[in-house]
Amino acid sequence: MPKKANVKLKKIKAKIKEHINEAVPQSNINYCLTCGLCVSGCPASGLEGLDPRKFLRLIVLGQDEEILGTDWIYSCTMCARCKYACPMGIDIGRIVYELRGMRPKDKRPPNLQRSCDLQKKSNSTGIPNEDFVWVVGDVLEEVHQNEPDWADLKAPIDKKGAKYYLNQNAKEPTVEPEEMVPLWKILHAAGIDWTYSSKWWDGANYCLFTGDPQDWEYTVRKQAETVDSLGCRYYINTE
Ligand code: SF4
Ligand code: SF4
Repeated sequence: MPKKANVKLKKIKAKIKEHINEAVPQSNINYCLTCGLCVSGCPASGLEGLDPRKFLRLIVLGQDEEILGTDWIYSCTMCARCKYACPMGIDIGRIVYELRGMRPKDKRPPNLQRSCDLQKKSNSTGIPNEDFVWVVGDVLEEVHQNEPDWADLKAPIDKKGAKYYLNQNAKEPTVEPEEMVPLWKILHAAGIDWTYSSKWWDGANYCLFTGDPQDWEYTVRKQAETVDSLGCRYYINTE
């Protein structure tokens, strides 16, 4: 019988691996073949010194400190390309989402967290709802004055019973308001009956990117309630 090696094996904690196995059971990370197909089309490959295959190896090998210490999870765009390339169907973007949610809020990229926090109050840039309403009216007036062909262009807000509800990326009314106009023109030319809302009008949802399902759901529910209260039939999400 061979002698037992006189080496105490360090117990690997691998808390992250445990969590991923529970939270993303459809992606069995133990099945990774280290084939590297996930790396081939990954836009985050090589950033922060990692690629999806190396990242996954760190999890499988229980290297929790390295995983928690890297910002690569914010380089991954969660685009899911790797999932479709992977012969074992491992969804690295989904795993990254879990890991983002595991980060304490004060250790996340501040701008990302701030946008999510603001989103839960109203919109991701924090501009007052009255300013949104004013900007829409002001831009519309400018179009009427300067573009005779679009003198009857409309940008309705809180129009009860409109068939389509349209949301808006908050960045546009905040920093580039004229960028809202092309979509208004398309809807107008297509004869679409639409409306914005004066509240919960922001279509972006940064809480998806912070990995907070409760916060994400909260803002989506607020938007859905607004659509219902206006009696709209379809929801056009611009994001
Ligand atoms: S493609 Fe899938 S199996 Fe291959 S290295 Fe990437 S995660 Fe592992
Ligand atoms: S989800 Fe992340 S790891 Fe996968 S291809 Fe996209 S950026 Fe790369």
